[in-house]
Amino acid sequence: MDLTTPLSYVKGVGPARAAMLEAKGLVTVEDLLAYVPFRYEDRSNMKTVAQLAPGEMATVITDVRATKMSGFKRRNLGLFEARFSDASRAILVGKWFHGGYLANVLAEGMKVALFGKVEFDSYSGELTMLHPEMEILSGDDEDGEAALHVGRVVPIYEGAGKITTRALRTLMHRILQEVAPEPDFLPEYLRDRLKLPERWQAIRETHFPPPDADLRLLNGFRSPGQFRLIFEEFFWLECGIALKRTKARTLPGIAFELNERVREQIKAMLPFKPTGAQRRVIQEIAEDMKAPRPMNRLMQGDVGSGKTIVAAEAAVIAIENGYQVAVLAPTEILATQHGLYFKQILSKLGYVTLLLTGSFTAREKAQLKKLIAEGLAHVVIGTHALLEKDVEFKKLGLAIVDEQHRFGVMQRLGLVQKGVHPDVLVMTATPIPRTLAMTLYGDLDVSVIDELPPGRKPIITKHATNDRVEQVYSFLKQQIEEGRQAYVVYPVIEESETQAMKAAQQMYEHLSKEVFPTLTVGLMHGRLAPDDKESAMREFKEGRIQILVSTTVIEVGVDVPNASVMVIEQAERFGLSQLHQLRGRVGRGAAQSYCILVTEKMNDAARHRIRTLVESTDGFYISEMDLKLRGPGEFFGTKQSGLPSLRVANILRDGEILVIARREAVDFIARPPSEEDLRRAVAYIRDHWQRRYGLVTVG
Ligand code: ADP
Ligand code: MG
Repeated sequence: MDLTTPLSYVKGVGPARAAMLEAKGLVTVEDLLAYVPFRYEDRSNMKTVAQLAPGEMATVITDVRATKMSGFKRRNLGLFEARFSDASRAILVGKWFHGGYLANVLAEGMKVALFGKVEFDSYSGELTMLHPEMEILSGDDEDGEAALHVGRVVPIYEGAGKITTRALRTLMHRILQEVAPEPDFLPEYLRDRLKLPERWQAIRETHFPPPDADLRLLNGFRSPGQFRLIFEEFFWLECGIALKRTKARTLPGIAFELNERVREQIKAMLPFKPTGAQRRVIQEIAEDMKAPRPMNRLMQGDVGSGKTIVAAEAAVIAIENGYQVAVLAPTEILATQHGLYFKQILSKLGYVTLLLTGSFTAREKAQLKKLIAEGLAHVVIGTHALLEKDVEFKKLGLAIVDEQHRFGVMQRLGLVQKGVHPDVLVMTATPIPRTLAMTLYGDLDVSVIDELPPGRKPIITKHATNDRVEQVYSFLKQQIEEGRQAYVVYPVIEESETQAMKAAQQMYEHLSKEVFPTLTVGLMHGRLAPDDKESAMREFKEGRIQILVSTTVIEVGVDVPNASVMVIEQAERFGLSQLHQLRGRVGRGAAQSYCILVTEKMNDAARHRIRTLVESTDGFYISEMDLKLRGPGEFFGTKQSGLPSLRVANILRDGEILVIARREAVDFIARPPSEEDLRRAVAYIRDHWQRRYGLVTVG
């Protein structure tokens, strides 16, 4: 047995268990060894039931004395109670609501470990635990390995399908005894300096801590073994990224020329005076574009900070040098909006701007593609339709990717392959917390626009419950009478887009006919034909539509400075970052802007989100909160995130280890102890880590 052995070949793993493990992404022995305990219990020196005190979290090992169901027996709705005791003869009562299934699990005389909060029931005068975690200790001791489960610090695993923590523990133990250890690839000088245990020892002690292990460190994921595994996962990832960066820097790229004429053209295009931050960022971009290697730069800035015009400046540099520019947007609405914007400001200079999205007919697309291939279009704006194989550029020099976190790394590469190493500028409006940005965008240089255009007033955010919606509408009317415009947004749930369209449609009818019969109300949603989308956008922009009823398709990028009120219905259904993005559609002009969050039913999490938004307009703060509330996977929508899948490490919990690992990795790649060390490391990353990290090529 070695690390690559499929788990289905391991004794004790039949087809059913193998399938359950696979559902968790665990296929090989190596996968399983990276499935580390989420908690540890000290079962070496435990209290008896008689020693338990109300209020404490505790583990006890007890025998089942009696069980009973009470309440509604039908449909497992009832309360299941079991009475436990031990040599101290004191009684502990375990209670489980909806616990009917336990009637077939627990039986008198069984030995079980219980973990939970001890409470004192003043009515019955008994100690109780409500829904304790439970592990059955008696029974199927296949290998007589009872010593694994008690009398020591015991690892607790998250169950996998029907595989219990106990079964996982047994399996893990068997594998650790049988598998041949692999050599340690972490550079020796690092192991010495950071006092890291050897890899195999770290794995073993993370699963089965030695008798003198510190339980607090273990449960805080900072035992020496855990630290080593976390560090290592980050270290190889950061090495991979550093290698990619180094390689990108040696590729031949375009050395754009930045002469007087280019400067004049930029000046002629600019509709306003750039802010200091915008000037600094275009300077950084221009320096990168001048250099004879491909640019890989992320432009980060909160909503409304004015990224688009900076991107347009970069476009002018490329076009004046005889190259084409591609702009990739995540949604049709945003592509449409960019289309309008770029067309408007670049036509002054006589450039041709084209829009290419999925909703054009095949014939239209064919014509557009011809123009692109012949080099007649200077700027091509589109959704992922731009990535299709048959879209060919004559001379692509600059690729601008907007709202990058919605595209995976692979898609970014797809576009880049259309040119001979074109420069790449990625724009993101989601202020990504630093630790995450380092990993997600580790292969990019970063420019930050940290200043809003002058004259902006902070948006005032209010919360209103649904029963006060009349007041919200009359406020809205009053604002419109003062010459402003407004958005009313409805949530789209991904599974049922059609249904949300209907809701928006109905609301549109209701608002236009009953609530605001004297105002012009428009409708915008994802299913409209491209022409209708464009005309709705245009009419709203030109002020002919006063209230735009929309689904979240307007979430990113839409820019109408005269719109000063954003009403978000059922705001409890949106995530924090999404609400912040939506709110960012207002507050773009000189007038005081308002965001009103209307809610129906709220749980605690929703209340927390609404409060955060009412209190803060700081995008960085909000995204930190969002990340904390949701965790990195969900934050980016796991699949398309391009976020590497970490196993032992956790970006939220282990940010400070990431910082150390990154520093060491950059140092190691730049100054390896020897060429041989570097070669070994590159081969190791390629064989073991590349696919998992989503790094396409390394070295
Ligand atoms: P975002 O960073 O969210 O993409 P935009 O590029 O859409 O922001 O810009 C937001 C608004 O601010 C737009 O109406 C834009 O024309 C305006 N704007 C950007 N920069 C400036 C500036 N320096 N002075 C005045 N208005 C600006
Ligand atoms: Mg934008």
